[in-house]
Amino acid sequence: MAGVAAVGAVAVAAIESLTGLPDRSAELAAFGASVAECTRCPLAATRTQVVFGSGSPVADLMFVGEAPGFHEDKQGVPFVGSAGQLLGKLLAEIGLSREQVYIANVLKCRPPGNRDPQPDEIAACESHLFRQIELISPRVVATLGNFATKLLSGRPDGITKVHGRPQEVVLGGSRVTLFPIFHPAAALYTPRMLDVLREDFQRLPELLAPSEPRTLHAVPDEAAGAEPEPSPASGPEAAAIQLGLF
Ligand code: URA
Repeated sequence: MAGVAAVGAVAVAAIESLTGLPDRSAELAAFGASVAECTRCPLAATRTQVVFGSGSPVADLMFVGEAPGFHEDKQGVPFVGSAGQLLGKLLAEIGLSREQVYIANVLKCRPPGNRDPQPDEIAACESHLFRQIELISPRVVATLGNFATKLLSGRPDGITKVHGRPQEVVLGGSRVTLFPIFHPAAALYTPRMLDVLREDFQRLPELLAPSEPRTLHAVPDEAAGAEPEPSPASGPEAAAIQLGLF
């Protein structure tokens, strides 16, 4: 056993010296194993299992969704249901696979009946996500929908207002480009929403390319008062809002 650990340590050291970056994959795996036992909120009693996250532990691009659904709860992997199929398709369209990115959620356990995450559940779970981000250290975090966007931006502005607008934030101790996107489930229920989602997805390669200039939108100072969320009366976003996705 000691021999295996020594070989592992040598491999990690080799990766670190080649890339110049600390490889924290082992730490992420150990953290995932500890989160698998989490009982911080009542969802522990109703889940099948904790859905920690999946993908590359050294990904430049990380997606953060809302919470596991029925299929994710059964399989222990995020975004494996129909929203996940669409996420995979949109990723393929920009030349990426699920294995090249990291996918996680605000909540690691399924809310019964797929209801919205409750504030106390988010409060209990958020440090798991922040630690995940710290260990993975992505350059771009794409938030899918309202819950992830509000939590990680630290602002009340909803996804309808801020989608497609990159913001520079500090997450897990590092500067990260936060890129809010509509939740893929929105496009399942409202086909016209797919165009909006696809358009936002197409911006990701540009945000990931270090040499490309980035267009950053100034986010109004909270002290100056947050602008109210526009409420579209019609169009693809209206139907999706009614479904509680935004
Ligand atoms: N929706 C989410 O937000 N996360 C999943 O893992 C699946 C569906």
